Amino acid sequence: MKKPFITKDQAEEIIKKYRTPFHIYDEKGIRDNARALREAFGWNKGYKEYFAVKATPNPTILKILHDEGCGMDCSSMAELVMSARCGITGRDIMFSSNDTPSEEFAKCAELGGTINLDDLTHIDQCLDALGGKLPGRMSCRFNPGGLFTLGESSEGFQVMDNPGESKYGMTEEQLYEAYSRLKELGVKEFGIHAFLASNTVTNAYYPALAGLLFKLALKIREKCGVTLSFINLSGGVGINYRPDQEANDIRVIGEGVRKAYEEILIPEGMGDVAIYTELGRFMLAPYGHLVTTATHEKHIYKEYIGVDACAANLMRPAMYGAYHHITVLGKEDAPKDHRYDITGALCENNDKFAIDRDLPKIDMGDILVIHDTGAHGFAMGYNYNGRLWTSELLLRSDGRITEIRRAQTIDDYFATLDGYWNIGL
Ligand SMILES: *Cc1c(COP(=O)(O)O)cnc(C)c1O
Repeated sequence: MKKPFITKDQAEEIIKKYRTPFHIYDEKGIRDNARALREAFGWNKGYKEYFAVKATPNPTILKILHDEGCGMDCSSMAELVMSARCGITGRDIMFSSNDTPSEEFAKCAELGGTINLDDLTHIDQCLDALGGKLPGRMSCRFNPGGLFTLGESSEGFQVMDNPGESKYGMTEEQLYEAYSRLKELGVKEFGIHAFLASNTVTNAYYPALAGLLFKLALKIREKCGVTLSFINLSGGVGINYRPDQEANDIRVIGEGVRKAYEEILIPEGMGDVAIYTELGRFMLAPYGHLVTTATHEKHIYKEYIGVDACAANLMRPAMYGAYHHITVLGKEDAPKDHRYDITGALCENNDKFAIDRDLPKIDMGDILVIHDTGAHGFAMGYNYNGRLWTSELLLRSDGRITEIRRAQTIDDYFATLDGYWNIGL
């Protein structure tokens, strides 16, 4: 069973001050999880998690994670600037981007961050953007092509993704060329990065990916005379959005990577290689809720409950048909004897947080918690239909509530128009 990290009483207190809908994050949950991750990889001296900023781009969240020892994985100018303004720079920045504007390479270099090249042509682009001199430390992104599968059972593969259709990274041959050139150009420290499958709910993904990259590291040493100093397993460790799914066990994952490290790298004298991760979803998703109030009920061919949040505040169900668990606060133990579609107000019929979901009877004014919205939730928000962004709140470890981003206003929405539209709303 999924249990919200706020109670009905807490929610009612919060709503006296901050209206629904809002996103709320759980500081203690975030910190405990970040510590568990660090412990799971504690066997590796240089281990570092670079939080994927795109998952939850809020400065307060970045600072909490930095405080727990994380760096930041940025992919755009705004994310680089946000990290820098949080005081997170230098080796604490990884820049994994594609289709990258030159000024973003320049910004990353200015901040002392590590550029992770998505393509061979980026070497010349970087040289150009950085006045002919590359930073001393660079990384390359690998794409093995084909299909990536893991763990076949009667129900099919546990993980199946399609790197051959993915726009990211370089082929193996291109990687060899890239490292050789980077070495010629004076780069001293090298890393490799690969992201082969998203939201994996299995303890086998990272160990399998690590094994693949560790073997490749040996080939790179042999072919290019380059010894990698870090191997970046990137993101992709998922969470159990569905209550019947078994959550990943990060200790088992860390031990699985360790086993591959001890089998492949240590015998080859590469026991100094640092392991990096770039998790987003795993770091934040379970520690965020979208909280919304039931405002309408409609009985036509189906039973609809309208809420005051919409897909502009959480796009995943509309975009991918993603499942997000829903709890009706105060009715946690009531029988789930009603079947509803839970809808937002967009003029788009895919604006449904749940379809044919069995829930307790919902009364108008009931507060609903939509679970696991801490990553790729607020971050993917948009303004369709003139719907505005919600506030972001933080449940502090000491129980206080702080607003870490106010809700957007109509004036904010008009702010990029001319002065006629500054009407003080
Ligand atoms: C999105 C992304 C991540 C994080 O992915 P999660 O699925 O949230 O773990 C990490 N690295 C890169 C380069 C990404 O684009």
